[in-house]
Amino acid sequence: MVSSSVLGFPRIGANREVKKAVEAYWGGKLSAEDLIKAAADVKKSSWTSLKERGVDLIPSGEFSLYDHVLDHSAAFNAIPKRYQGLGLSALDVFFAMGRGRQAGGVDVPACEMKKWFDSNYHFVVPELSEETDFKLLYNKALTEYKEAKEAGVVTRPVVLGPISYLVLGKAAKEASATFQPISLLPKILPVYKQLLSELKAAGVESVQIDEPILVLDKGAELDKQYASAYAELVSVAPKIMLTTYFNRLDSNINFIAKLPVAGLHIDLVRAPQQLGEVLAAIKSTPIVISLGVVSGRNIWKADFAAAIKYAQTAITALGADRVIVATSSSLLHTPVTLANEKKLTEQQRDWFSFALEKASEVATIAAVLSGSQDPKVAAALEANKVSIAKRRQFESTSDDAVRKRVAAITPDMYDRKSPFATRKEVQAKHLNLPKFPTTTIGSFPQTKEIRTARAKLGKGEISEAEYDEFIKKEIEMVVKFQEKIGLDLLVHGEPERNDMVQYFGEQLTGFVFTQNAWVQSYGSRYVRPPIIVSDVSRPTPMTVKWSSYAQSVSTKPMKGMLSGPVTILNWSFPRDDVPRKLQSQQLALALRDEVIDLEKAGISAIQVDEPAIREGLPLRRSDWDEYLQWAVDTFKLSTAGVTDATQTHSHFCYSDFGDIFPSIQRLDADVISIEFSKSDMKLLHTFKQYGYSNQIGPGVYDIHSPRVPSEQEIIDRLKTTLAIIPDHLMFINPDCGLKTRGWKETEASLANLVAAARWARVHA
Ligand code: GLN
Ligand code: ZN
Repeated sequence: MVSSSVLGFPRIGANREVKKAVEAYWGGKLSAEDLIKAAADVKKSSWTSLKERGVDLIPSGEFSLYDHVLDHSAAFNAIPKRYQGLGLSALDVFFAMGRGRQAGGVDVPACEMKKWFDSNYHFVVPELSEETDFKLLYNKALTEYKEAKEAGVVTRPVVLGPISYLVLGKAAKEASATFQPISLLPKILPVYKQLLSELKAAGVESVQIDEPILVLDKGAELDKQYASAYAELVSVAPKIMLTTYFNRLDSNINFIAKLPVAGLHIDLVRAPQQLGEVLAAIKSTPIVISLGVVSGRNIWKADFAAAIKYAQTAITALGADRVIVATSSSLLHTPVTLANEKKLTEQQRDWFSFALEKASEVATIAAVLSGSQDPKVAAALEANKVSIAKRRQFESTSDDAVRKRVAAITPDMYDRKSPFATRKEVQAKHLNLPKFPTTTIGSFPQTKEIRTARAKLGKGEISEAEYDEFIKKEIEMVVKFQEKIGLDLLVHGEPERNDMVQYFGEQLTGFVFTQNAWVQSYGSRYVRPPIIVSDVSRPTPMTVKWSSYAQSVSTKPMKGMLSGPVTILNWSFPRDDVPRKLQSQQLALALRDEVIDLEKAGISAIQVDEPAIREGLPLRRSDWDEYLQWAVDTFKLSTAGVTDATQTHSHFCYSDFGDIFPSIQRLDADVISIEFSKSDMKLLHTFKQYGYSNQIGPGVYDIHSPRVPSEQEIIDRLKTTLAIIPDHLMFINPDCGLKTRGWKETEASLANLVAAARWARVHA
């Protein structure tokens, strides 16, 4: 018998119940009990739905009210001192670590967040030191296992593995200079043993231990740690399914195959080529193989025939009892269900599978492989064959004009007319900005009024003209606000945008939109990625109307605001029939036209945001060059069509990019703005060390938290920054867009930012 498994499930709830409850709790409108109850209802419904769909191994314990890595830190007492002794409940300590807290005399910033591998999900980075005193404050996996059992569902608990947990962590400020988080392994193992033995005592048969670090190059240096840690854990744990995802194991399989685990999960969607090697390595061991054949990262229907073929290879090598069919990763990165989509055409609906549909897919594939005689299974298999054939048919029709334009790209189209030094002088005259120019990253608070107006437009309750009037008023207000506060390079505030990718996708051909396909980005922030289904082009200008309106109400220069090709691609669900490079080139050509149109409309600074360029980086170093070549090229293709006088900007969030520095330089943006590094100034030192030559605005405060930075804090920050970056290259800005913030904190923070810039003009 081949069993089926799902590695993790979206947390939001089919109707965004969890997001709403969490935000209501933060707003003081919901009690902690009611929040827990709302979460429990969603979990229960997920477990029962997975069971109804025939999944054998159902996950529990991976649910979170914010982030599962944060859950782990909180449960293991890896709670930095600054969150302790504040008189907060455990739940509020948890949220304070996730998003900071500024209320009732408590003022603590959030912990650092980082992107979860190459996804757009952010995890809260564990802060560890010699003093970290791991102990099991509560056993979340056990609690949820019991919760599910009470709801009539036997689950396989999910736990983030000790080595991945430590390696994902960072040294806390109080740690010694040589401290390495992995050195805490002997200290953390007893806590894991306690957790796992409690699961075993409760009757848990098998546990999913996630060790995604095993797909990275650095996994190779951890062989000894893996050997000793897992030898200890198996002695007390239920059967261990060691789970890897998002990439291939490569040579790490050699030591993994020797681990005393019961099973190993591999991602065959991302790395199908590893199957042969992995099977050969585990053949003579008792290890069960779990095959990730249904994508946890994309929304395309799985091709059953292809999945079955992989599984049959495994069955031939190991026997059916040693094969499990699974999702490639947790379904956290996919929306809950297609059932909530009422606006897709029949043709489109037939292309996709969301989390619940994917659950049915793994169940059906496993049933087929187990030789099921159920006519429903046969029908599902046949239906899948028909759907896949139709999709392939659709894919074979491409947009000739777009394909020809891509084929006609010439190398000169990637470069600006003059080098940066020349452009800088021309732009200084043209834009006339003061020393240490202040600016923002683009968006201003997306208020309830804005969202309501957009919703009304969607429902036809207001006309297009009324909506446009409303947006114009918003823009004018935001522009006047920036003038009043004293910012130098203004923005229109992006009120017309629901989301920085969706907004563009909606105006380009080749995209399909959903109503409810929400995917978690961080905490309670969810995005609704558009889906690229065919060749992309730009029928008409997308942003010119709003940017020129904004410019018309101010004499200060206005910065046009676009999302870059790599980011649009990375934050959409991409096609899987053509390479990412081609999709990015098509996007770049569309954006190039927009950039030129903005310039023609009198917009002298244009920002093309590429916050996702780093996350698109392949997980294995040997794959980097190929990606960076086309990613940087397509950014350049989108921006290089303008004259020297136009100042191009780009923006990156959470840009841990010391290691791809030459690529950041090669983008050749006139100005870049980057994250507020909570850790240290390492990134800026890298810029200095490599002699970064263009202008740069290191975020002077963290906008991901509602906390208001004081003027002095920003001045102190500027002092450190100015010790590294030359005066004449420096811009002053927050570290990301302000759309998730309220007006009150935005006004206070920006006023302090401008005051700090004025201080710098005099004193620095
Ligand atoms: N211009 C966008 C904004 O300000 C950039 C957002 C981002 O980097 N994620 O919202
Ligand atoms: Zn950003």
